[in-house]
Amino acid sequence: MSTSQFFESDLATLRGMTPARLSLLQSELGLFTFGDLIQYFPFRYEDRTLLTPIAEINDQMENVQFIGRIKYKEKIGVGRRERLVAECCDETGCIELVWFQGVKWIEKSLISGVDFLFYGKPGSFNGQIQMTHPEMEVYKGPQISEKFFQPIYPLTEKLRKKYVDSKLIASLQKSLLEVSFPYIRETLPQEIIQQFKLISKQEALYHIHLPQSENWLHQARRRLKFEELFYNQLRLIKQNLVRKTAFPGQIFSSAALLTTFYKDHLPFSLTEAQKKVIREIFEDMRSGNQMNRLLQGDVGSGKTIVAFISMLLAIDNGTQACLLAPTEILADQHFQGLKKFADLLGISIAKLTGSVKKKDRVEIHEGLQSGSLNILVGTHAIFEDVVQFKNLGLCIIDEQHRFGVAQRAKLWDKNKQIHPHVLVMTATPIPRTLAMTLYGDLDVSVIDELPAGRKPIQTIHRYDSHRLQVFSFIQSEIQKGRQVYIVYPLIEESEKMDFKDLMDGHESITRAFPEIPLGILHGKMKPADKDFEMARFVKNETKIMVATTVIEVGVNVPNASVMIIESAERFGLAQLHQLRGRVGRGAEQSYCLLLTDYKISADTKKRIETMVRTNNGFEIAEVDLQLRGPGDIGGTRQSGAIDLMIADLSKDGEILKVARETAVSILNEDPNLEHDKNAMIRDQVRQQKKDTTNWARIS
Ligand code: ADP
Ligand code: MG
Repeated sequence: MSTSQFFESDLATLRGMTPARLSLLQSELGLFTFGDLIQYFPFRYEDRTLLTPIAEINDQMENVQFIGRIKYKEKIGVGRRERLVAECCDETGCIELVWFQGVKWIEKSLISGVDFLFYGKPGSFNGQIQMTHPEMEVYKGPQISEKFFQPIYPLTEKLRKKYVDSKLIASLQKSLLEVSFPYIRETLPQEIIQQFKLISKQEALYHIHLPQSENWLHQARRRLKFEELFYNQLRLIKQNLVRKTAFPGQIFSSAALLTTFYKDHLPFSLTEAQKKVIREIFEDMRSGNQMNRLLQGDVGSGKTIVAFISMLLAIDNGTQACLLAPTEILADQHFQGLKKFADLLGISIAKLTGSVKKKDRVEIHEGLQSGSLNILVGTHAIFEDVVQFKNLGLCIIDEQHRFGVAQRAKLWDKNKQIHPHVLVMTATPIPRTLAMTLYGDLDVSVIDELPAGRKPIQTIHRYDSHRLQVFSFIQSEIQKGRQVYIVYPLIEESEKMDFKDLMDGHESITRAFPEIPLGILHGKMKPADKDFEMARFVKNETKIMVATTVIEVGVNVPNASVMIIESAERFGLAQLHQLRGRVGRGAEQSYCLLLTDYKISADTKKRIETMVRTNNGFEIAEVDLQLRGPGDIGGTRQSGAIDLMIADLSKDGEILKVARETAVSILNEDPNLEHDKNAMIRDQVRQQKKDTTNWARIS
C-alpha cells in the first residue's frame, strides 16, 4: 500500500473503533480517514503526575487529580432524577463525588478497598466540596512518563456526553501510530530539516500525540508548525509569482503631470516613508506585470497623497484611475480633497455614489467611456456593470477590510484588455504575521512614519462618574477655538438601545452647553443630511459633533482636537484607535478621552491601558491579536486564509518569519520548483492542492 492509500483508509478499520464512535467522529469532528485523525492535534496538555491531597482541594481550583478509596456510596432519587453519591477519602480528608449519568455502571465499578485515581474540576454544593463526573480509573502505582503530558483534544459537548473524551482519542491515536510508522513519509527536504534542526515527521507525529518529555513535545510542535507555515507561505508566494507572469500590466513610463505637481503644487514635503512607498508603487507600475499591492499606514500617515500621486502616473500614460471608499462621507471627503489638486492640474474628476442623481450619473458614465473623465471617486456604486471605462489603468481601494476579495476581482474586470493595477490601502494596521498569511499573495508597502510636527495625541481614561470634569475640559478647549467629537457606540444587535443612548447624550450635552452649536451624525440619517452636518462641522460652524462610529473611517477635520468616546468598553481596540485617529491632524495638542463604567473586565482594562500607553497602530494591532486571536481580526474569519491546524499566528511570529524567508529563497532560485532537490516540495504542494480540491468538492 502506498503512503497516500494508507492515509486514505477508512477510520472504521482502526483497532478500537466502534460504529458508534465512528459516526460521532465523522459527524462532530469531520474525521473520516487515518490521515484526518493523525492530523487532529491536541490543543493543550495536562500534567497528570501531580496528585493533590484531598484536604487541600477547594472549589477555586482548576482540574485536580487525587487518589482515594470509596468509603460509602448511595443511589438517590428515581428516574431522571437518579444520581449516585459517593464519599471518597484519603488519609487527609474526604470529598463527595456525584454522577448523574451511567449510574448503574459506575456503582458497579466503585469497589471499596481499592485505590482509585480521580481527575476533574472541584465544585461546591451547600458549602461542601464535591466533584461531579470525575474521570476515574483503578490506581496502579506511579505511572509511566506518558502521564506527564496528557493530550487534550478539542471536543464537543456531545462527544463528551457519549464518553468520547481526550483519553479515548489519545488511545485511538496510539493504535493508529502503531500501524502508521512504515507509511509516514518525510515531507520536508533534509536540507531544511538540518538547517533548522527539526525532528523527523515520524517523531513529530508521535510526540505531538504521545509526548515522552517536555522537550520532545516542544520539538514536535516546532517541527509541525514550521511545516504548516512553510507550505502556507510557499503556496501564497507562488500564487503571487504565477499571477505576475500570467497577468501583464500596463507599463507607465512618462511622468509629465507628475513632475508639474511635484514642482508647483505639492503642499508639503513628503515623508521618507511616503517617498519609499511611492517608489515601490512606481516600480510595480513600470514592471510590465500587473500590480497587486497592499499599502498599510497608520491613521494620519498620509496615504491619500500617495494615492493621488499614483493616479497621476496612470493619467500621465493615457489611462484613467478610480478610488473606491467604503462610505459616502469618506468618498465625498476624498473627492473634495483631490478635486483641489485636480483643478490645479486641469484634469477631470467626478464622484459617483448611490445618491448621485440619474442625470449626473449618465453624464459620468459617458465621460468614463469616452475617456474625458480622468479620475472617478466613489463608493460601491462603482461596481455596477453600467460603469465602464475607456481604459482603466489604476484602481485604488481605501480601507480594504470593508471590501471582499470577490469585489476586488470585479474591479479587475473593469478593463477587459488588460487588468488595471490595484492598490489596496488600509488604515487598520494588521500585525505582520497576519499580513503575511492573509495578504501573502499581495506585495506589501508600509508607511511607518507620521508627517513631522505632529504632536502625539494624549489619551486619558476616565470613569463615567467624572463626567462633569470632562465637560469642563470640553468647555475650555472650545474656548481655545478647538472642536470636539463625542462618540457613542452603535452596534447592530442593539441598535435601538444605542440610538437612545446617542439621543440622550445629545440632549444632555445640549443642556450642558446651551450656547455652543452642536451637530449630530448617525447612520440612519439621509446622505444629504449627513453631508450638511459634516459640512457645518468642517466649516467650524458647529463646535461639537455628537456621532456614532460613522465618523470612524477617514474623516479629516484638522481643527478638531478632542475625541470623547462614551462607553469605551464597548469598542474593540482597532475601532478605538481608528476613532482616535480623527484628532491629532492639526498643529494643536490633541486629546482622546475614554469614558467607561467603573466596573470593567480584564480584557477591557488591557484595551484601555494599551490605548493610553501608545499611539502606534501596529503595536495596538499586536495587542488586539493577542487578546482576540487571529479569527476575529479584520474580517479574516471568512477568508479561509488562516485555516491553520497547529500554528497560532498570535504566538508563532518567529517561526512564520523563518518559514517565509525559506520559502522566498527557494522560489527565488527555482520559481516553478523544477530542480531535483525540490522534488519533495513540489510533490507536497501538489498533494496539498489535491487535498484542498477534494475538500472543496465535499463541502
Ligand atoms: P490617512 O493615511 O489616514 O489616510 P491622510 O492622507 O488623510 O491620512 O493624511 C492626513 C493629513 O496629513 C492630511 O491633512 C494630509 O494633508 C496631511 N499630510 C499628508 N502627508 C503629509 C506630509 N508629508 N507632511 C505634512 N502633512 C501631510
Ligand atoms: Mg485615509
